Amino acid sequence: MAIVEVAIPVPLNKTFDYLCDGEVAVGARVRVPFIRKKVVGVILAVKDKSEFEKLKSVEEVLDDTPILDKPILDFLFWSARYYHHPIGEVICAALPKNLRLGKEAKIKKVTGLSLDTEKPDYKITDEQSHAINEILKSQDSYHGFLLHGVTGSGKTEVYLNITQTVLDQGKQVLVLVPEIGLTPQMITRFESRLETRVVAIHSQLNETQKLDAYLMAKNGEAGVVLGTRSAIFAPMPNLGLIIIDEEHDGSFKQQSNFRYSARDLCFIRAKQANIPLVLGTATPSLEMLKNVMDKKITRLTLTQRAGGATMPKVSLIDMRQHFTPQGGTEKSDGLLSNLLIEKMKQYLSKGKQVMLFINRRGYAPVYYCKECGWKAECGRCDSGMIYHRHINRLKCHHCGDEQMPEHTCPECKQPSLEVLGYGTERLEETLSSHFADTPIIRIDRDTTRRKKAFGEHLKKINSGEPCIIVGTQMLAKGHDFSNLAMVGILDTDAGLLSLDFRATEHLAQLLIQVSGRAGRNKEQGEVVIQTRYPDHPIFNYVLSSRYTQFAIQLLKQRSSALLPPYSHQALLCANAKNKQVAEDFLREAAGLLKSIQIDTVEIWGPVANIFEKKADYYYFNLYLQSDDRKALHQMLATFNQHIDSLKLKNKVRWYLDVDPIE
Ligand code: ADP
Ligand code: ZN
Ligand code: ZN
Repeated sequence: MAIVEVAIPVPLNKTFDYLCDGEVAVGARVRVPFIRKKVVGVILAVKDKSEFEKLKSVEEVLDDTPILDKPILDFLFWSARYYHHPIGEVICAALPKNLRLGKEAKIKKVTGLSLDTEKPDYKITDEQSHAINEILKSQDSYHGFLLHGVTGSGKTEVYLNITQTVLDQGKQVLVLVPEIGLTPQMITRFESRLETRVVAIHSQLNETQKLDAYLMAKNGEAGVVLGTRSAIFAPMPNLGLIIIDEEHDGSFKQQSNFRYSARDLCFIRAKQANIPLVLGTATPSLEMLKNVMDKKITRLTLTQRAGGATMPKVSLIDMRQHFTPQGGTEKSDGLLSNLLIEKMKQYLSKGKQVMLFINRRGYAPVYYCKECGWKAECGRCDSGMIYHRHINRLKCHHCGDEQMPEHTCPECKQPSLEVLGYGTERLEETLSSHFADTPIIRIDRDTTRRKKAFGEHLKKINSGEPCIIVGTQMLAKGHDFSNLAMVGILDTDAGLLSLDFRATEHLAQLLIQVSGRAGRNKEQGEVVIQTRYPDHPIFNYVLSSRYTQFAIQLLKQRSSALLPPYSHQALLCANAKNKQVAEDFLREAAGLLKSIQIDTVEIWGPVANIFEKKADYYYFNLYLQSDDRKALHQMLATFNQHIDSLKLKNKVRWYLDVDPIE
């Protein structure tokens, strides 16, 4: 009998040996007994000796041929090592649910072949053509490219072009896009242009569809796999090119369980497969700009909008004037300045669409007593309750708890409760009083929860009829609305005041991305930003579309403060219902880390998380930082080996986050 080494999805840094008769392949799934349960695992090795005695037997071999081939297994091993995460859980994260459950690896319905493809009715620009040629020059070897093109500059056209060339050589292409909002439009564009099967992998598919897509990638039938972050693990035997669109987007980082960055893993996958990698964006992350400066990747630029469109005109409205009686002549309700309303009217009367961006959903962020100052807060989190009018509930956006709002103040018993501030829902209501005859389309998590809802909203917008679009940052990404002429950005000031060292980088990206939705057709669009801090340096750059210069300023600050990308970080987070235990565990962990004695790694904390309490649990962090990535990882690896020596380990929930972004 052979002995097989099996990876099982448990949070333990080890694999398990079982007896197995008959032929089995590395990378095949097996069902095995594991502590009173049956679990599905993946064979990592077949051997004739084990250091353990009394091995149990494999119950069932689920695959005749490997579900994971050697290249993808190597990639998963690399990922597990880098993120110091158990290989069993990493493999589990890489497989579609039906395979994890042990279901048969069989395609139910072949999809993704479009009937007619059409060629574009325009010629590619010189800049596009230069980018395409440069990328195709290194078709047969690893090379990273930052495709830095302003919004609407035709980056997608570049993707389509290079993809077709790679497909023509019988190879496959992996395209990663940020979360669901963007996928329908991208899928259509890829399907209608490329002569191949395009399969999508994202969260809106059902489990059968996800498995089908996975298997079509694996057997090579799918020429293009287009998906959100988990698609980085799609098996593609003939992979010839990886494209990651909107590289700067935070959604490429998984923020639970196995905390990987699909963007960062792209580099490893491309290197292992020895193929080019293209990272596209209008607002590169500081990490990628540093890579360009260090000559690790090549920057290709598209400086002009395609098809004769020009960049929008950006201006500020100083909101301080609206609150000083002698300051200005305008009156406003605190959210919309008269100037903004006037501009909106002008565009709407010309048959154009207008979009307003506000980064908060719900009706109002504060429900309070105007007599005594009492405020509705979540009993389980350190945060206020947000009022949602259409369901007449107070909701906590951190734990999801809901309450009926009180009618009298629980403190002073007066009937003096009121809402304060604005969310998308209240903005929609206010707008309908100013613009009674104009359709208003609200896009946020509440109006798009239903499957297909987002698509329906997009369809309405794409019909081109004049309307007002109200939305959260869901709208910032990639959309190409051809009749959208004006964008108003209502509340950016929180981002200017934030303590997070990445806040200004993210705000600049957001402002430019949101602005980038305007005027993508021939006529110049307009962007208006309302702020109480018009003198903030960020606006200097945003107003004149000098993102790169702004980013270089930020990089200088990061460099002198030794913050990422000039240093590397890891975070050990612990949370428990008992605050003391969470803190004590991290003190114990800090003791263990310090005993490893790698003095190039700084350790600080434990410190309370910004939201200390969430859903009854207290969150504390321990930060590790070093300018020597190797040293940091050496410390984490040693820490992992000795983790069992921590006495409080089983009294808290904890995780390690390598290269955290929050
Ligand atoms: P990006 O991805 O850079 O934001 P897109 O690829 O979506 O830009 O292109 C913006 C618009 O310009 C699209 O409607 C696209 O069809 C059009 N376009 C792209 N390349 C050209 C070109 N060379 N000439 C004319 N129009 C183009
Ligand atoms: Zn009161
Ligand atoms: Zn809560």
